[in-house]
Amino acid sequence: MAADRRRTPTVEDYADGVLAGDRAMLGRAITLIESGKDEHAGPAQQLLQRLLPHTGKAHRIGITGVPGVGKSTAIDQLGINLVEQGHRVAVLAVDPTSTRSGGSILGDKTRMEQLSRRPEAFIRPSPSGGTLGGVARRTREALLVCEAAGFDVVLVETVGVGQSEVAVAGMVDLFLLLLAPGGGDELQGVKRGIVELADLLVVNKCDGALADLARHTAADYGHALHMVRSGDDGAIDRVRTCSALTGVGIDELWNVVEDLVRAARASGELDARRTEQARAWMWSEVTDTLFDDLRADAAVRARIDALEHDVSHGRMSPAAAAREVLAVFRPR
Ligand code: GDP
Repeated sequence: MAADRRRTPTVEDYADGVLAGDRAMLGRAITLIESGKDEHAGPAQQLLQRLLPHTGKAHRIGITGVPGVGKSTAIDQLGINLVEQGHRVAVLAVDPTSTRSGGSILGDKTRMEQLSRRPEAFIRPSPSGGTLGGVARRTREALLVCEAAGFDVVLVETVGVGQSEVAVAGMVDLFLLLLAPGGGDELQGVKRGIVELADLLVVNKCDGALADLARHTAADYGHALHMVRSGDDGAIDRVRTCSALTGVGIDELWNVVEDLVRAARASGELDARRTEQARAWMWSEVTDTLFDDLRADAAVRARIDALEHDVSHGRMSPAAAAREVLAVFRPR
């Protein structure tokens, strides 16, 4: 039976709702997980523990690219195609800009207009507030909850302008970088390292007057990748073109994604990647939690201004100040 909305749901209520694919409970479960409140931390972890056996079955795909490259148009189109093939698609957006500006580039549901109207799809903007680490942490957990709710494709979207890509690469099976026709990555505003992080490069807007340029751009990236990954004969196949606007190339793109995931599963690479991700996740939880505790510690807070002041005026070495912070936090 559905939980009475007037009382706070129990962990079991959340779990039953999520596992039954109840969208309202899915949304509330993610809200519980995103909540920074101390009293929610325990139930959130119990819920995740309860859902864990039901996770792991989705294709976890990261999609990044600078604003304007066509991410939402592409996700809308791809999402609709997938839903029409019988998939259930969740879209999670990690948006570090939401904390700074109060607004959010990615958070707006109406960006994926067709997909957001489909009952087989679930679109969740990132929470505003909190640190980037915090956002990525909760996104990972939201991904697991979506899997438990029966979504077999989870798309994690980022803006492609900063560190969030590294965090997202640590939670997905495959990472896709959307590029615009023309220019190298520096000209396109794509941060260094993101091209190397991507499993698939996709030059979007391959339509109309931009089609030739898009194909040239794809060829250029193909050659560049081939040079960087010498010995990787498949490098050129990892660069694609598509038009999110007309839909041309979107199905083919998904076929490549499926081929790559299938091959990775067959070779054991996928399992190895997920195992390593889980191990790394555990340690980043330890690091983040320790750091949160340290920042919240009264004795540390009492000393921190003076220490920062001394370090910034050259009166104390950063290493000595760090040792003092740790000594105050954890007196021996
Ligand atoms: P995002 O900021 O990366 O999510 O980009 P949007 O999906 O909002 O697209 C930015 C602009 O590019 C919009 O005006 C889209 O209509 C346009 N656009 C997106 N995909 C394509 C495409 O494949 N071809 C063309 N010509 N325009 C596109």
